[in-house]
Amino acid sequence: MKYKQINKQNIWAEKITRKKFFNTPCLFLDRDGVLIDWKNSLMKISEAKIIKGCEKIIKECNNKDIPVILITNQGGIGIGLHSWKDFALIQKKLLNQLLKKNTKVDGVIACAHHPYAKGNLHHLNHPCRKPNGGMFLIAKKLFNLDLKNSWMIGDKINDLKAAYSKGLKGGILVMTGYGKEEKKKLDQLPKKNFIIKTAPSLNKIKITF
Ligand SMILES: [Mg+2]
Repeated sequence: MKYKQINKQNIWAEKITRKKFFNTPCLFLDRDGVLIDWKNSLMKISEAKIIKGCEKIIKECNNKDIPVILITNQGGIGIGLHSWKDFALIQKKLLNQLLKKNTKVDGVIACAHHPYAKGNLHHLNHPCRKPNGGMFLIAKKLFNLDLKNSWMIGDKINDLKAAYSKGLKGGILVMTGYGKEEKKKLDQLPKKNFIIKTAPSLNKIKITF
């Protein structure tokens, strides 16, 4: 199946909102392990559960007209564990559940490139695959964002490394998903010019932009 959201570089780059932004700070969220309790890429789609209370911070951002954009590695698609169709199904489930809580994310950027992928998703070090920060640049262009005042929340050190590489204001490591195992790697991040925080889960986070 062909998805119109997939661009020429094989990156899923989707604008959901109709809102217009002008050099606006953004809240970037990793998806798996942050919004969805999904740790093992061998899990079935039906097992994907939304992490409780995750809508709270999204709603706060919606109310302040701060865009919320998902930035997600989907290397499992590249290596054939699942498909873009599976990805789209989980997105639908997630977005519907958020809508029920009167909340929505403004966009989604996903990179399925992987060093072990075959065909056109094979790439040894794709600039969009976190820890590289290419997806932030795509989002900046698509939404007109101010990256230097934006935040990234993830459950892996690579989420924060990617954010640092594009000059974001800070990153928050949550203890859901892989967070507890990844916490010990936080000292791999530079201490200067990047705020680093941890939080038990997305529903415990407060951010001032
Ligand atoms: Mg994750």
